[in-house]
Amino acid sequence: MNNKNRRDRKQNDSFKQLCPVSGKCGGCNWIDKPYEEQLRAKEKWFQELMKLYCKPEPAIAMEEPAHYRNKVHAVFGEDRKHNTISGIYEAGTHRIVPVDSCLIENQKADEIIVSIRGLMKSFKMRAYNEDTGYGLLRHVLIRTGHVTGQIMVVLVLSSPVMPSKNNFVKALLKLHPEITTIVVNVNNRSTSMVLGDKEQVIYGKGYIEDVLCGKTFRISPKSFYQVNPVQTEKLYKKALEYAGLTGKEMVVDAYCGTGTIGMIASDGAKQVIGVELNGDAVRDARNNAKKNGIKNIQFYQNDAGKFLVEMAEQEAKVDVVMMDPPRSGSSEEFLQSVLRMKPEKVVYISCNPETLVRDLKILTKRDYKVTKCVGVDMFPFTDSLEAVCLLEKMGIRKSKIYSRTDVVI
Ligand code: SAH
Repeated sequence: MNNKNRRDRKQNDSFKQLCPVSGKCGGCNWIDKPYEEQLRAKEKWFQELMKLYCKPEPAIAMEEPAHYRNKVHAVFGEDRKHNTISGIYEAGTHRIVPVDSCLIENQKADEIIVSIRGLMKSFKMRAYNEDTGYGLLRHVLIRTGHVTGQIMVVLVLSSPVMPSKNNFVKALLKLHPEITTIVVNVNNRSTSMVLGDKEQVIYGKGYIEDVLCGKTFRISPKSFYQVNPVQTEKLYKKALEYAGLTGKEMVVDAYCGTGTIGMIASDGAKQVIGVELNGDAVRDARNNAKKNGIKNIQFYQNDAGKFLVEMAEQEAKVDVVMMDPPRSGSSEEFLQSVLRMKPEKVVYISCNPETLVRDLKILTKRDYKVTKCVGVDMFPFTDSLEAVCLLEKMGIRKSKIYSRTDVVI
């Protein structure tokens, strides 16, 4: 065993001791694999998936692969003796496995959750019981800004009435003055969704901000934001490198969420158009553009497929399509519209390489070749891998383009 493997194994042994619930939780199903081994396994899997298209670059690893999750969720409940417990649902059940600390979650967030549980006793606040419907606190969600250090605590309650609210806030802030905002979210339905529709800000601004690639982004309780900020910067930098913008391009940022990729690309582009289905995310995206003083970007709330069909019908000229669909991948109408519009480049960012290759099959039937791809390890200690692919229109930069037959793996 070389030094690195020895260090990894030692680190993992200590992780195992640190996490007595690893067998039940399922959150980090690769806890017992040395990090180097995890990376090689992910690379091998991705290489196999991509074998018809392109030989991947070496995977982008996380230097310190622990405590990376900036969003931490704990479910609250009671044990048989009516003691308050907090933790995670045992995989596939509604049984709560008590957890005080987790090796992939932000440590401060875990500490705050333990403090809230402690305060509940002195405030006589009961945790919600799913069977009886009795009790107040259902979940706690904590989001942290990696660069700004801002912390948002979301208390998910079964009822809008929170007795001794002000004193509870005071007591929590005394223990954790680093908290910058506290929001009450009311969820009185029996649903597997954590957050309900009603929100009340009880301390601070109701959102936090974080910085990615030099731009500031607002994060509300419900908006999508990548959970591993350190690796997200590397992912976005790779996507931009693949896009190779020169300042003259018309760029589409499809499935844009709160507009992160498009805004980071905007400095190097003539114009950026972002499209996203979720209205809250589009609102955040517009605010983010304003806050960063970006003028050459517009956001549209629409289904990305429908939007691209319209663009293709209007014969819009697009140079680069950057797309980052959800796990289910993109749609036939989106992909066919890309083929009709013929951008020079498509940068496909995927959190599910299996749907990525399904979509690549359509895009590479004619006109496009995958010229570069790489896996980015956004989720150490799990079997998930994020991927970035560059597709280029055939006829340009021929020497760099792989054909299906000349890739040797
Ligand atoms: N690019 C963003 C978000 C990626 S997550 C980032 O890096 O932060 C995928 C996004 O696709 C989510 O914001 C989701 O709301 C959005 N989405 C899902 N289906 C969509 C559709 N049919 N049309 C447009 N956006 C969609």
